[in-house]
Amino acid sequence: MIGPRKFIHIDMDAFFAAVEQRDHPEYRGKPVIVGGDPKSRSVVSTCSYEARVFGIHSAMPTAQAKRLCPQGIFVHPHFEKYSEASRTIMSILRTYTPLVEQISLDEAYLDVTENLLRLEDPVALAKLLKQHIFAVTHLTASAGVAPNMFLAKIASDMKKPDGLTVVPPDKVLEFLEDLPVRKLPGVGPKTEAILERMKLKTCGDLWGVGARQLSEKLGKWGAGLYRMAQGKDDREVNPYWERTQLSAEETFSKDITDIAWLQGKLAELAAHVFHELQEEGRAGRTVVLKVKYHDFEQVTRSKTLSAPPRDWQIIHEIACDLLEKKTAAGRKAVRLLGLGISGLTSKEAPPPVIQKELF
Ligand SMILES: [Mg+2]
Repeated sequence: MIGPRKFIHIDMDAFFAAVEQRDHPEYRGKPVIVGGDPKSRSVVSTCSYEARVFGIHSAMPTAQAKRLCPQGIFVHPHFEKYSEASRTIMSILRTYTPLVEQISLDEAYLDVTENLLRLEDPVALAKLLKQHIFAVTHLTASAGVAPNMFLAKIASDMKKPDGLTVVPPDKVLEFLEDLPVRKLPGVGPKTEAILERMKLKTCGDLWGVGARQLSEKLGKWGAGLYRMAQGKDDREVNPYWERTQLSAEETFSKDITDIAWLQGKLAELAAHVFHELQEEGRAGRTVVLKVKYHDFEQVTRSKTLSAPPRDWQIIHEIACDLLEKKTAAGRKAVRLLGLGISGLTSKEAPPPVIQKELF
C-alpha cells in the first residue's frame, strides 16, 4: 500500500445517559445520572453533559453525585437498551468496512484505508458515519480521524459532544508537540507524576529525552510511551476481538460477615452471568470469584471445569465453594462480591475470514 493508513475512532457521547434522554423527552436538557441508588455504595456509570457541569463524572460514588446535584435525575441502568443501540451502531459501522474493532458498547476503531464506499477522504467518511448513526439511532457520536489508532482515539475525545477532530498525516508532530502526556492512552496519575518529576509535561517534552531514559524510570512501558509521543503506532484493527470474560459484581451498602447472605448474593450474580452468556451465545469453563474485603484488600479465586456449566446453579455451587474454602469471607467483612466466567469462546461458528483482495 502506498500512502498513509486511514483510521477513524468512533465514541458515542455520554452513551447510557444519551439513550435515557432519547427515550425520555422529559430528561432532555437536564442532568441525568445513570448508576445505582444514591443511598447505596454504587458509582456513576455515565452522566449527561448537563450533569458534568456540576462536577459529576463516571466512577464517582452516586451518593457524592447526589450531594453535588440534588435536583439531578438518577436512573438505574437499562443494559438491554444500551446493548440494542450498540448492536445497531456497530452494524452501521460494518456497512462501511469489515475492519471494525469494537472496544466497548459505545466505542470502535475502523480502518477505512480501503472502504466499501471507495471514499478517498476519511474526513468525508467520518462525517457520513456520524450522520448515519444519528439518523438511525438519534444519538450523537464523536469521531477522530488519524493515520493510526491511538491518534484517532485521542482525536475523538477532543471536541465532545458531536465532535470531529482530524489529525492529518503531515500534522502529527504538530498535534503532539503541546499535547499533555496524560492524554496518551495508558498514562495514569502514577506515570504522570513520575514524568512531572522529570519536568516532562507534553509529548514534545518527551522527544528530547530518549527511550532509554524513559525506560529507566518507567520500565518496559517507557519505550512504548516514547514511540507514542512520536506518533508511532503500528497496531492493526482486529475485527475479531471479543471479550474473553463476562462478569457481574456488586458493592454492598454495609460490610458483610454473614456467609449465608453472601451465598444468596452469589446466587443472584450467578443467575445474571449465566443469562448474559446465553444471550450472547457464549460459553466458558472457568468460574472466577472476586472478593473485596472491608479494608479494600481484594482477592480473586477461580476454578476451571471440564465443560462449560449447563445452568446457573452449577456456577453458584462452585462460587460458594470458592468463597468458603479459598477466601476469608465470614472471618473478614466483605464489601464487594464479583462473579464471572472467563476463557470465553463463541458457541457459534467463527466469522468468515475477510478476503482483502476483494476490494
Ligand atoms: Mg463514549
